[in-house]
Amino acid sequence: MDSTMLRTTVCIAGGGPAGLMLGLLLARRGVEVVVLEKHADFLRDFRGDTVHPSTQQVLDELGLADRFAELPYQRVDRAETMIDGRPLTLADFGALRTPYPYIAMVPQWDLLNLLAEEAARYPGFRLLHRAEATGLITSGGRVTGVTVRRPDQDQPLEVHAALTVAADGRHSTLRRAAELPSREFGAAFDVLWFRVSRTEVDQLSALGLRVAKGTAYVVVPRNTYWQVARIIDKGTAADLLGGDIAALHQDFRTAVPELADRIGEVTGWDRTSVLEVRIDRLRRWHRPGLLCLGDAAHAMSPVGGVGINLAVQDAVAAANLLTPALLDHQRTGSPVDDHVLAAVQRRRGWPTKITQLLQRAVQRFGVERALRGGLSSSPVPGLLMPPIRRLLSRVIGLGVRPEHVRH
Ligand SMILES: Cc1cc2nc3c(=O)[nH]c(=O)nc-3n(C[C@H](O)[C@H](O)[C@H](O)COP(=O)(O)OP(=O)(O)OC[C@H]3O[C@@H](n4cnc5c(N)ncnc54)[C@H](O)[C@@H]3O)c2cc1C
Repeated sequence: MDSTMLRTTVCIAGGGPAGLMLGLLLARRGVEVVVLEKHADFLRDFRGDTVHPSTQQVLDELGLADRFAELPYQRVDRAETMIDGRPLTLADFGALRTPYPYIAMVPQWDLLNLLAEEAARYPGFRLLHRAEATGLITSGGRVTGVTVRRPDQDQPLEVHAALTVAADGRHSTLRRAAELPSREFGAAFDVLWFRVSRTEVDQLSALGLRVAKGTAYVVVPRNTYWQVARIIDKGTAADLLGGDIAALHQDFRTAVPELADRIGEVTGWDRTSVLEVRIDRLRRWHRPGLLCLGDAAHAMSPVGGVGINLAVQDAVAAANLLTPALLDHQRTGSPVDDHVLAAVQRRRGWPTKITQLLQRAVQRFGVERALRGGLSSSPVPGLLMPPIRRLLSRVIGLGVRPEHVRH
């Protein structure tokens, strides 16, 4: 093999939930796959850590339920909010009819390592770390592979493939290179991310949204700490970080009084990170030889923590629809027809639209009002809450269209 050139059936850019799940699903059905991941490992703090009931079901269908259960996880049965001191249960996953009626909070690197280890059992699977997809190779209008930068190698690499998949997340390089038309939906907020320690006697147990006096926090239980997201108005991060950390301490104490004694652990802004939130969606997820999946096709807001689940569901649907054409390519050399790629978008397009519509509604009527100090729990009449709760439990827990692994 020429060290600067690699040939495979499918080249996937991005070793996140979408890319690794797709790589595993294809490899176990005999398709040759190369996954490119630009980082050296999966250890990054910014990743969401929610593994939803439907993703756990997929892991079960893959025979990975026992190994998943061995990972360190916290079980979240409900999503709750406290608005100006008044509690409200937003979602109750225990009421869902599913073998896994809870969200498992698992460090995402553990989940990704599990997928990568399982995929590595199949001879057709290759994962290259520190391999960044930088552009598309095309021939006669068709995408035939990607160019790759590897910091440890002098020469750039070319990976040639019958199908290239962009699963490189919300700042996707390949999607930009493909010039596919997209729709941007403004996100009104970004997130300031930090953690405070957790003790065994903490009273909080559920994933919680806390709103008080124009500030909003999401508090997520983890093994030895609380992951905290302070919702901030878009574009205000620089002002916030230029100010005194004591202001953050003060409003955290008001919004989350149970953890007031811990906020002093955040001694400076260097203990926090700002994460950019965006919502967008490609109008067309594909062009000949290329398919976009997960956040590369539709960047998800953190609202509801559903982006990982959606990325996994995209991967399952794509593997189910694409495998016959890919195996056919391996047997006969026939190209992967564009209509198979269009079928993936048809199947996953409308669940994505509905999920983003709900995220934007929560953003508009919940988050933006909370940031203006205009949100109260009273406008939701008691009678309306049970059906709203059932809807949220289902959409958050299972997704709009759960997918199942085809064997
Ligand atoms: C602040 C914030 C919090 C969130 N919290 C949650 C949550 O709790 N739960 C949830 O479900 N969702 C959450 N989300 C959404 C979630 O992160 C995404 O929807 C989900 O990760 C999408 O998965 P993906 O595989 O498509 O992309 P990603 O998870 O972004 O994975 C893309 C992968 O590609 C790699 N990569 C990028 N560019 C290249 C390249 N050029 N070449 C090679 N590799 C590349 C990256 O290193 C990464 O590993 C959150 C989003 C934000 C902004």
